[in-house]
Amino acid sequence: MAYIVLARKYRPQTFEEVVGQEHVTRTLKNALKEGKIGHAYLFAGPRGVGKTSVARILAKALNCEKGITPEPCNKCERCREITEGRSVDVLEIDGASNRKIEEIRNLREGVGYAPANSRYKVYIIDEVHMLTNEAFNALLKTLEEPPPHVVFIFATTEPHRVPATIMSRCQRFDFRKLTTGEILKRLKEIKEKEGIKITDEALNLIAYRADGALRDAEVAIEQLTAYTEDEISLQDIKEVFGFIDKSFYIELIKGVIEQDDRKIISEIENIFEQGFDLKEFVVGLIDFLRELLLSRLDVKNPFSIEEDPEIKRMAGSTDEDNLVAMLNLAVELERSLRYINYSRAMVELYLLKMARIPYIKKVSELISGAEKGTPSVEAKKGKPEPPPRIEEEPLTGEKLWERIKEEILKKASGGLRTLVNSVVFENFDKNEKRLLLSNPRKTAHTDEHIFQIESVAKDILGYEIRVSITTPVQEQKRDERIGKGLIGHPLVNKAVKLFGVEDIY
Ligand SMILES: [Zn+2]
Repeated sequence: MAYIVLARKYRPQTFEEVVGQEHVTRTLKNALKEGKIGHAYLFAGPRGVGKTSVARILAKALNCEKGITPEPCNKCERCREITEGRSVDVLEIDGASNRKIEEIRNLREGVGYAPANSRYKVYIIDEVHMLTNEAFNALLKTLEEPPPHVVFIFATTEPHRVPATIMSRCQRFDFRKLTTGEILKRLKEIKEKEGIKITDEALNLIAYRADGALRDAEVAIEQLTAYTEDEISLQDIKEVFGFIDKSFYIELIKGVIEQDDRKIISEIENIFEQGFDLKEFVVGLIDFLRELLLSRLDVKNPFSIEEDPEIKRMAGSTDEDNLVAMLNLAVELERSLRYINYSRAMVELYLLKMARIPYIKKVSELISGAEKGTPSVEAKKGKPEPPPRIEEEPLTGEKLWERIKEEILKKASGGLRTLVNSVVFENFDKNEKRLLLSNPRKTAHTDEHIFQIESVAKDILGYEIRVSITTPVQEQKRDERIGKGLIGHPLVNKAVKLFGVEDIY
């Protein structure tokens, strides 16, 4: 880690100095005042919010030469050696790199000895959820009969991965993400003290992008001061962290709003060619859509990065429902990308889906109009006509599904195989390039499964289609939504099948 000087320099040394975790520090201080010392503490919460800092302060509070105190002096030898990380009795262990049973066995041997020159031996195990099961079992034995002079402090970003047997022996404290305002306040203090030249906009952006992790913001400021001696600007931040320029998003979302598939594909091509980090791209996309939505709703974003007239215009050319549905798809895309390697295809797929939201909305309006008892023809009046390419096609698709199934079963195993064997052909619409399957056995399926089915179909047909799988639960919900009287109405059936309303609503 090259840039830790600032973060280290401004690491809190007392409970008072810890930002944003009063609910934790107050409880700890009260317990220390009353001399109630636990044998094991679990600090859970996101990264960069102060878990290890609080663990060190607690270690000092237990070992300060003044006696057990909620306010360690930070001056005595015990306090100083903990601050400087050279105490022989306060041991920091990284759970990720010491996760095996051998290492925990060594630790257990050490636990048996009295502290060298402190009141307590304190073991701070960071990322404790990374330990192997054997290591946890070894640790558990120590926790079951802890020697009186030993205190464990476990820190974790993933408390759900800590076994319940360990958890039940710990006092748990949940650390929270910091608000952008809290981070900003702290950054302003650092700016003053260090005499850092940085524009307010740039400071806002750093606080916002830190996403609750103060340490990330501090490290970012430090990287930027190393990058330029001039006043740090938005442009510097973009250059150092490779943020994708807003103009890319503007062009891309223009393509979506104008339902211009070719433009969408070519803008994505553009972004990939620039070699941007995909995760960064999607996070930026979510931020951008959120900004559009806020602009559309006329909500002033206190941490708004740039007031952009283009954004205002774009927000005006669509409506809230569209933006909410787009944002929803972007968040879904972010989630899908964690599990799937077809990253570029996924990005294209989701952006093309976004461009189709208005069609889906029209159908849902049509349906809700019909639901209120308005004749469907009248509900349609005044609404734009659906695209002309949609014409009734004879259903010839069952053979296609048989063929896809056969192809998949040749090589697939596991979940996909089970799924393909249990789903039933419903409908294939050639115009909409859409294959609808139902899943009466409710076999679990993932985006990855759908994607594999789609890619086999593409091999067979020579063009891309969309595959949807409905389960009886979804069917039922859909029926409730449509209203009983309309189930089976040919117009409703046709609309639902054509537009895949069950996917979105
Ligand atoms: Zn002290």
